[in-house]
Amino acid sequence: MIPVPGFEGRRIAVFGLGRSGLTAARALKAGGALPVLWDDSVSSRMQAEAEGFDVEDLTSADWSGFAALVLSPGAPLTHPEPHWTVDKAKAAGVEIVGDIELFARAIAALPEGKRPKVVAITGTNGKSTTTALIGWMLKQAGMTVHVGGNIGIGVLALPPPTPGAVYVIEVSSYQLDLTTSFAPDVAMLINMSPDHLDRHGGMEGYVAAKRRIFQAQTASQTAIVGIDDDWSMAIEQELTAARHRVIRVHANMRGILIGRPEHTVVAGTDGLIFEGSRVAELTHARSLPGRHNAQNAGFAYATAITLGLTQNQAAAFLLTFPGLAHRMEHVATLGRVRFINDSKATNADAARQALSSYDRSFWIAGGRAKAGGIDDLEDLFPRVAEAFLIGEAAGPFAARLGETPHRICGDMATAVKAAAEAAAATGRDEVVLLSPAAASFDQYPDFEARGEAFRAAVLALGAVPASAS
Ligand code: ADP
Repeated sequence: MIPVPGFEGRRIAVFGLGRSGLTAARALKAGGALPVLWDDSVSSRMQAEAEGFDVEDLTSADWSGFAALVLSPGAPLTHPEPHWTVDKAKAAGVEIVGDIELFARAIAALPEGKRPKVVAITGTNGKSTTTALIGWMLKQAGMTVHVGGNIGIGVLALPPPTPGAVYVIEVSSYQLDLTTSFAPDVAMLINMSPDHLDRHGGMEGYVAAKRRIFQAQTASQTAIVGIDDDWSMAIEQELTAARHRVIRVHANMRGILIGRPEHTVVAGTDGLIFEGSRVAELTHARSLPGRHNAQNAGFAYATAITLGLTQNQAAAFLLTFPGLAHRMEHVATLGRVRFINDSKATNADAARQALSSYDRSFWIAGGRAKAGGIDDLEDLFPRVAEAFLIGEAAGPFAARLGETPHRICGDMATAVKAAAEAAAATGRDEVVLLSPAAASFDQYPDFEARGEAFRAAVLALGAVPASAS
């Protein structure tokens, strides 16, 4: 755990007692603060009380006595409407922070020579992959690395800082909205496309939240920005104009650079070019298929170089990255059919990346549809050999697929069996791809459970796990 100093002897309101809220309360207490906890759920409050925390009804508390409100990223700051704790904090002039901001303050409180390095990753898609990939590369280079944040372990639950250690932190737009002084040594924005607009009041609010990853950076710190969408490109231009240290990552199919080569990584599916020279091959990478992973690799490469890895080290470690579960994960093989688990693809944009990675696939999709469903994927329908539809979205997805072969399967086991049979029947090398383009909540607690259901169904057919081959 990382103790948070700066609030010694002061009362701090902590609302939302999920994992990150409880961890924040522990970290504040360890730093000498007096956290006061509350949650709408009785069982969460009981758990906090059992742990010895001061639980008080924040609806009737005296807010003038609080030094800060630590808000859970699950509670809205602004949209659709501010959470009631936000109104109360604002009325009382109490600052509102999140766990990333507390982490930033804990690091800033250390003497300069004792501070660890901080790498922060955000973007609409690819955050977890890039975070895990950077963690892997730095570990291979022998560094002390702590990976967490929006992926895996909450940031304040990571081991306490030591000089020379590197924190590799995935941050969501909700978490960024609750930061003011977070100044990572290396901060990156991978890409942006419309997502979570309800919580940010539209695209402008979403972009503003993502932009905060760079707001407190100083001239000696590095910003790495993707330039493949207009929103990220505008931010890159703004940072460059303000004389930040900026590395641009440009991912395109053919690995051709548009614009200036300085400070630019060009990420093509076959490899990376940095400042005009070919620096890494990706064709034989164990776990980075497709254009989207080339983009992720571009960011990881730029980070590794910035933190002192040699070009050869960075190139070698990209090749051996074992990959993340549920993201384009090669689960198993049965005969000539490969089964790919991309359960994490909860929106059309993520599924686009997966579908475009294969010329042809037997596609398992569906769940709880997001706005727009699979409308934006129409240009990829010719790559779908057949679609196998599950969950609430099966009907609407079927209607959208139209002439593209598809069948409604309902549940995962039925879909996997049908897709496996159809793929095997061609007698050729084929791919069965779970990339749902929808949330999992209609049938599963989360995307991990959905991916595990896919894996179980695949193995039940007698497929050979990829790890065994
Ligand atoms: P995040 O943590 O941002 O949700 P992940 O790395 O977990 O991202 O990947 C989520 C989904 O997005 C996966 O289905 C993956 O195929 C897809 N994806 C990964 N990297 C990218 C990228 N750079 N651009 C677009 N989609 C991506």
